[in-house]
Amino acid sequence: KKVIFSGIKPSGDLTLGNYLGAIKNWVKLQDNYDSYFCVVDLHAITVKQEPALLRKRTIEILALYIASGIDPEKNTLFIQSHVPAHSEAAWLLNCYTYMGELGRMTQFKDKSQKLGESISAGLFNYPVLMAADILLYNTDLVPVGKDQKQHLELARDIAERFNNLYSPTFKVPEAYIPERAAKIMDLQDPTRKMSKSEDNPNGYILLMDTPEVIKKKISRAVTDTVGVVRYSEEQPGIMNLINIMSAITGLTPEEIERKYTGCGYAQFKSDVADAIVNELSPIQGKVKKLINDKTYLEDVYKKGAEKANYVANKMLRKIQKKIGFIPR
Ligand code: ATP
Ligand code: MG
Repeated sequence: KKVIFSGIKPSGDLTLGNYLGAIKNWVKLQDNYDSYFCVVDLHAITVKQEPALLRKRTIEILALYIASGIDPEKNTLFIQSHVPAHSEAAWLLNCYTYMGELGRMTQFKDKSQKLGESISAGLFNYPVLMAADILLYNTDLVPVGKDQKQHLELARDIAERFNNLYSPTFKVPEAYIPERAAKIMDLQDPTRKMSKSEDNPNGYILLMDTPEVIKKKISRAVTDTVGVVRYSEEQPGIMNLINIMSAITGLTPEEIERKYTGCGYAQFKSDVADAIVNELSPIQGKVKKLINDKTYLEDVYKKGAEKANYVANKMLRKIQKKIGFIPR
């Protein structure tokens, strides 16, 4: 079976963007792949995190994976820091990555601009850790949002560079980017990506938002004065809502346009909100139950770490050997 690896940072509460851009596709792909789904806590600390909140979110994300339909029996679910090979491999790969390459990463540029003075070296190195995550598992496919495409290309470059320098070691992974939910945009500024670390809560829908909050946020979503539900670059707010509805219902943007011909934004928005509520309600119910079952979740991430450690350590030894380290 081919291998999938993907993960989400516990750097904030998960948004509809994380769900439609990542998790929903993992659920679709899980039966046909040997899948590793990780909560990437090492990545989260590239920006400041409150310890108690980091712990809480790490467990919540694991619960959300399961509640969304990822089967912990068939897939490997684990917490990144429980597999030390990720940190070790990241150091090694750092030495095969150029400063110039990392400096060109648009996510680093965006995030460091926002942070001002206090930019950690970890934020700069982040894509190398991500390359380690992926390459340790002989990954074929990485299902991510479009914002991660550049990082994935770097992972491929690092893999190819290492393979050429020594001998074939890493599988060169492919990105899997969903067509319609590739980049869900901020509801208040539809030219920016919806992100869990944003400040304005009206810009994002959280997976755990109540139906009332979801309806309110969608009804306040920024649109335009055109007044026609049309899938057009000139109407980025409406385009975003169409993408959301399309990713949830499976209808194409054209079918949605047709369905809402002659219909005002208020009705359309109300239907989008209903679609989101219908999608998220059952997941929310399951999360609330799971979160209280600490022993079950602990069992899942411990078993996951055991399997992940086994696979990752094998690859780590292989890398160390190629580099010329003395075997332990
Ligand atoms: P942060 O602001 O802390 O970076 P984030 O919302 O960007 O948070 P990540 O943990 O960086 O979340 O990304 C997890 C996964 O969710 C990745 O696969 C990413 O591509 C995907 N993703 C994040 N935001 C969106 C979005 N708006 N649309 C589609 N996919 C998204
Ligand atoms: Mg991000």
